[in-house]
Amino acid sequence: SVNTKPRGRQFFNNPGPTNIPDRILRAMDRPVMDFMAPEFLEIQRACMAGVKRVLKTDQTLFAHASTGHGAWEAAVANLFSPGDTVLVVETGYFSLSWKEMAETLGIKVETVAADWRKGVDIAKVAERLSQDKAHEIKAILAVHNETATGLVLPLPEIRRALDDAKHPALLLSDTISSLGSMEYKMDAWGIDVTIGGSQKGLMLPTGMAITGVSAKAMEASRKSKLPKYYFSWELMEARKPQRFIGTVPVHFFFGLQESLKMLEEEGLDSVFARHARLAEATRAAVRAWGADGKGPTLYGQTPDRLSNSVTTVLMPEGVSSDGMRKAALERFNLSLGGGLGPLMGKVFRIGHMGDLNEPMLLGCLATTELAMKTAGVPFCPGGVDAAIQSLAG
Ligand code: PLP
Repeated sequence: SVNTKPRGRQFFNNPGPTNIPDRILRAMDRPVMDFMAPEFLEIQRACMAGVKRVLKTDQTLFAHASTGHGAWEAAVANLFSPGDTVLVVETGYFSLSWKEMAETLGIKVETVAADWRKGVDIAKVAERLSQDKAHEIKAILAVHNETATGLVLPLPEIRRALDDAKHPALLLSDTISSLGSMEYKMDAWGIDVTIGGSQKGLMLPTGMAITGVSAKAMEASRKSKLPKYYFSWELMEARKPQRFIGTVPVHFFFGLQESLKMLEEEGLDSVFARHARLAEATRAAVRAWGADGKGPTLYGQTPDRLSNSVTTVLMPEGVSSDGMRKAALERFNLSLGGGLGPLMGKVFRIGHMGDLNEPMLLGCLATTELAMKTAGVPFCPGGVDAAIQSLAG
């Protein structure tokens, strides 16, 4: 019998985790180091300074050995007390997961509802804030780049809504799938808490979360009554000099040092421009696939909010994305993202963040066409050509 197991390098286009560049793998391939040794403390210090440059912040920064969920939980546990009210801006699956977490921890959550395909109407956020004369809303929880839908939330507009209403609520933002892929300006945008993860734009393994905390949020955290220990910012601050509870995962910092070097060698603006170019090419391919109205289409319907790190593709009515994703992975060694929550089976997601270039993207798009053809998904040919036109332009 013929062995059809895929060979060759896997093409990895999940929207997180992402490709870990060989340079980063090699940087982590080294002996362990005492985390209190001056040599390591200097590496850690330089890494934290580097992440601040990426986030464009001068505020306090913490790193946790956890996934993004841990940093979400840390933010809620450090800032609020039982019964406090927060406002979640609905963007999609991840915004609702953060909401569920906050509710489970004993916080009252109000939601500004939104159409996932169009994104929230900022006027609705502004309206709710202006109604809240007693300032019961302690914070806004917002996901900058909703990885489930592929739509971006314009954070400066949320900041403006707060300022216009003269509302003192803290602004918490999840930059997990935009960090290191799309522009983010923590201080200029007036963000109080920024939550990032290691496994997307930073091109690292999963398991480290980064949290930026403004002076105003640090102040608020001192009054919070929710229980916390491992995630306590106050305890972390007091752990000098390593600012870490428990054994510091030194290899993450070896990797992070190399990741920051790569981002800064390319230049952050060039990194963002590369992501914009690759995203536009991906969208050109999807538009071509659906040109006759019968093939897959872009899930997002607000052109100026489409993400540059992930594209969510809506399947034709009645056609599941499971078959084509299975063919892509099992026959052709291409990993694509699936639909989350109510979008399961209805969409697939092309991650184009982190360590990616034109040939890798074209390989992904061509193989996606191959997988759709194999699985009997109707689509117009010409997606790859459209992507080439876009990239050549
Ligand atoms: N927020 C967003 C926007 C995400 O994309 C993810 C994961 O994909 C998370 C939160 C959860 O992060 P983690 O999987 O690292 O816990």
